[in-house]
Amino acid sequence: MRKVSVFGATGSIGQNTLDLISRAPEAYDVVALTGGRNVTQLAKDARAFRADVAVTAYEDHLPTLREALAGTGIEAAAGQGALVEAADRPVDWVMSAIVGAAGLEPGFHALRHGTTLALANKESLVTAGPLLLAEGRAHGATILPVDSEHSAVFQALVGEDMAAVERIVITASGGGLRDWPIEALASATVADAGAHPNWDMGQRITIDSASMFNKAMELIETKEFFGVRPDQVEAVVHPQSIIHALVGFCDGALMAHLGAPDMRHAIGYALHWPTRRALPVARLDLAELATLEFRAPCDIRYPALGLARQVMETGGLSGAVFNAAKEVALDAFLAGRVGFMDMTGVVAATLDQISRDIRLHDAIETLETVLETDHVARQRAEEQVAKRQNDR
Ligand code: NDP
Repeated sequence: MRKVSVFGATGSIGQNTLDLISRAPEAYDVVALTGGRNVTQLAKDARAFRADVAVTAYEDHLPTLREALAGTGIEAAAGQGALVEAADRPVDWVMSAIVGAAGLEPGFHALRHGTTLALANKESLVTAGPLLLAEGRAHGATILPVDSEHSAVFQALVGEDMAAVERIVITASGGGLRDWPIEALASATVADAGAHPNWDMGQRITIDSASMFNKAMELIETKEFFGVRPDQVEAVVHPQSIIHALVGFCDGALMAHLGAPDMRHAIGYALHWPTRRALPVARLDLAELATLEFRAPCDIRYPALGLARQVMETGGLSGAVFNAAKEVALDAFLAGRVGFMDMTGVVAATLDQISRDIRLHDAIETLETVLETDHVARQRAEEQVAKRQNDR
């Protein structure tokens, strides 16, 4: 039996992970499940999977969680300290699917036990990539990518020599506003940007797809995870979302990974790696698909991609600033405080302002530095939001 823990169990990735685990319950011993505010779901899953411990990130939700687990013998805990304590429980496999910078610390702790970390939490690689990978190496841990694009690249690289890799291309659907006139983008509402043409995901990541902040994060993740130069990583708009990524080799070969847009493929690959097992995902009918289209992303429509290039070139703490400012800008857009196209302005101005105070390109030394930078960047980004709000 494999011991597993799922961080962010109540979210979209977490629920898909539990769906796969539930199909072979005899194979898994679920140790920790964590969530945030959705303690009803957390308690339901902790009971169903007979977890040892259920942790909510929020102390004020602990009484409800305790009550829901009363009489089951399942421990209930709350807060960041409890999340870290849960990550310190030795297991064979951990899903890191907490959203945001809150997912960093549990991931680092899990790696210290030499576990296999299935990494969905984008923020870990964007804000602290080199540190995370070094931590994994130091403890003999394995990190497996769960983002569909990175899982696709990972799979295309099996048995290959990284020295033969010329470029990595990740695809982007283009998001819900892909075909809007550029002049209209400034007036896009949350509802407009929150409708994804292909993937069924949470609201935040769907809006990040429309602005391409999601792809910007993934470009940075690709550079960090696969250790390639910024100029070897590119994004291409592929409206059908059937090809997730391609790897170009020095002999001109381009290896593509195709699959239906269903996160259970990438999650399942990470769960069963290094073997492949049958997964409940749709099989592609190529004749029915008939056409796969590609186009270069427009810099004016998607300025976030230019910011990703800047971050990849700068390295160091710039990813932490980028991510924090992006979070604040997205919150502001969701709250109607700034417009859709203002989000990149907020992030660009925050990067520019902080680069005058902090040497962003210096190598990251500790997780604490990353978290402090995240904190400062949020304050500065908030100032940028307030400025734009006043100007509206
Ligand atoms: P969701 O918002 O659906 O779920 C996030 C999870 O994190 C939930 O369990 C949530 O709890 C929990 N959570 C929220 N805030 C905190 C906090 N402060 N501390 C601890 N836990 C918290 O996100 P997704 O599942 O969509 O994404 C998870 C991660 O995976 C993100 O980093 C995302 O970018 C990445 N990802 C997602 C993909 C997708 O298809 N959804 C694809 C690839 C990567 P609760 O809901 O109970 O409040």
